[in-house]
Amino acid sequence: MFILKGIEQLENAIAKAKKIRPRVEFGSFGHYRVSGSKGFYTVVCRKDERGYKTVECTCKGAEKGLVCYHSAAALSLHVGLARQQQAA
Ligand SMILES: [Zn+2]
Repeated sequence: MFILKGIEQLENAIAKAKKIRPRVEFGSFGHYRVSGSKGFYTVVCRKDERGYKTVECTCKGAEKGLVCYHSAAALSLHVGLARQQQAA
């Protein structure tokens, strides 16, 4: 799990996601499934009780607090959906 503070934090992971192009499946708002090297990982994007944007992924890298490309791929979808919700 990591706390999202800014886009610069995601740059490397976004670059990797663009190269690998994982499949992102929408579960519900904030819940996504992203294809990885060993099947699908679940990514959860949400705001915690302190108002921090947190991102969780079930892969090994994210367990260590790394920003993985699954998270970056899911976030790109999540951010677009969040904008649509705010506009609605
Ligand atoms: Zn991951």
